Order: sequence, then structure tokens, then C-alpha cells
Amino acid sequence: MKKIGILTSGGDSPGMNAAIRAAVRQGKALGLTVIGINSGYEGCLTGDLEELGVKDVSGIIEEGGTILRSKRAPKFKEKRERTKAIRNLNQAGIDGVVVIGGDGTLRGAQALNREGVPTVGIPATIDNDVYGTDMTIGVDTALNTVVQSLDRIRTTASALERTFIVEVMGRNSGYIALMGGLSGGAEVILIPEVEYNLDEVAEEIYQGYKRGKQHMIVVVAEGIYDEGSAAHYVGQHLKEQIGFEIRVTVLGHMQRGGNPSAFDRGIASRLGAEAVKRLSNGESGTMMGLQGNEIKSVDYSDVLSQEKEIDMELYELAKTLSQ
Ligand code: ADP
Repeated sequence: MKKIGILTSGGDSPGMNAAIRAAVRQGKALGLTVIGINSGYEGCLTGDLEELGVKDVSGIIEEGGTILRSKRAPKFKEKRERTKAIRNLNQAGIDGVVVIGGDGTLRGAQALNREGVPTVGIPATIDNDVYGTDMTIGVDTALNTVVQSLDRIRTTASALERTFIVEVMGRNSGYIALMGGLSGGAEVILIPEVEYNLDEVAEEIYQGYKRGKQHMIVVVAEGIYDEGSAAHYVGQHLKEQIGFEIRVTVLGHMQRGGNPSAFDRGIASRLGAEAVKRLSNGESGTMMGLQGNEIKSVDYSDVLSQEKEIDMELYELAKTLSQ
């Protein structure tokens, strides 16, 4: 293998740049030419490629987002379109591609790999919903943002004896809500994986105030309600039930931004370098996963056929500690 491509795709997450930097510099250390593919799979379809040298990735380890840009490219799901993309990659002499992104991105990487372009994947999404890796790149930074926000909200909540409902990201996965709520000391956590009853939540809040709590923070994952804002829905219901003043905060895209944490930079550097080493050694069709403190190869077929489950013990722990 002489020339490799690298792309970021799907929702961006903090630490993608650190992974790009690691892949480029590891590639250079192995004597490879590294080509940046711009705008995810869209760049494969349009042939938007540029060579990346050691200097092109200097000063990006601390930057959120991705210098290669990330775009959704629904056309890439069609085999006919992928054939065009493969032709472009072949014409550019690209022997293999390192693909950085979430679940959807890894499906694209699996298709490319099956159809003739070797790929190795790196999990990067703030949702931490990829099977085969304990952590995805970006989730630690997002959690820090959530916890900082909860700290600030608590300061104002305790001054005014209000209940705050805070909505965090997670359409199908309650990971951010659970870990953010646990680490931020939330009183109630609502996630898509666990059924909830808002009358019971209202009762919990009422009892909390009766026991002398100064403030109540309810963290809700966006995915617990399909027909609009989860936090507003919960807020409305609780207001009718308990009559306390309720304030709703939707953290939104600020959870995706910001400088990556030390942890995210660390795993991005390790996963990025390992992906290039393995790809250049002839491995493909695998994702680099962090398991414990080790990096393991996991076949795409395993990654994409299984759901990562939420740790119910942590959910119970958060409940116990919220009294
Ligand atoms: P994420 O990688 O964050 O989960 P998406 O689900 O939006 O984000 O996927 C990102 C891109 O990956 C899509 O725009 C598309 O180009 C590609 N992709 C997603 N699913 C598939 C699939 N089943 N086959 C081929 N490509 C796919």
C-alpha cells in the first residue's frame, strides 16, 4: 500500500481533527502518501481530493469540527453511485481509505470495502452508540459540555427554587443523558431506553422539595419524545402537575462544538494511528475499537449487526445517588 485516503463523514464530533492529524503523521512515518477526501463520501463521488502533508495538519489537534468537512451524502447508499466513487478513488491511485464517523459512515465503509476499496473505520460520534468500542471520539468532550452546563444551571436553580428541564442530544441513545446526568448530579434522568411516567416524575420532584431540596434538575434525552422538543413536552406536563416554576433549556448543537478534551485527543491519536498501521499491513473491513484501555480490531459485520446497550447499573446508580 502506497497511497491512502482519509475522510470524515456524518455528524461531526470534537476530536475528528486529532484523528486526521494522527492518521496523516502515522502515514508519513510509514512512507505513505496521504490524500484528504473532502466532505465525506460526497468527495469520493466528486473526486474532491487533496494531498495532506505533515504541516497541513499542524495546529489542528485542539480544534473541534473537521478540516476535511463532513457532509451527509445520501446518494452514496446507491450501488451505482458507489461504483462511480470507486472509479474516482482508483483513478487517483488510492489503495485504501481510513473512514472516520458514526454508524452510518461505517455502513458506507463496509460497502466500499466489499466492493473493492479496502477501508478501516474509526468510531467518532458524540452519541457513543457504536458497538465494539467503549467510547467513540467526541463523547467525552460533549459530556464535559453537558456537565458544565448543568453546574451553571444548578447555581441559578438553587437561588430561585425552580425545576430545570435540560434536554441533551441522543435520538436513539440515552448515553449522554445518563452519563451527563450522573456526573452532573441530576435528580431525574429520562432516556429512550427506559419507559417513563411523567406523573411519577412529578411526584418525585414534589417529594424532593418536601425533603428540603433546593433545586431539581431533570435531564432528558431528545429521543424520549418524537413529536417535538422533549424538554418542552416534559416541562409542560410537570408545570400542569406540580405548579412549580419550570425552566426549560435545550443544549442543542453546543454539545457538538468546542475544543476536544484530553481524553478525546488521546483516543483519536491512538485510533487514528492504529487504523493507518493496520490498513498499510493489509488489514481491512474492520473498525478500531477502544476496549478497556486497549485498541482492538472489530469486524464491520459485528459492529453493524449489534446494538450497543446502555448500562442499566449506571442508570440505577444515578437514581440511588439523586436522593
Ligand atoms: P453517522 O456516520 O454520524 O451515523 P449518517 O448516518 O448520516 O451519519 O451517515 C453518514 C453518511 O454515510 C451518509 O450520508 C451516507 O453517505 C453514508 N451512509 C450511511 N448509511 C449508508 C449505507 N447503508 N450504505 C452506504 N453508505 C451509507
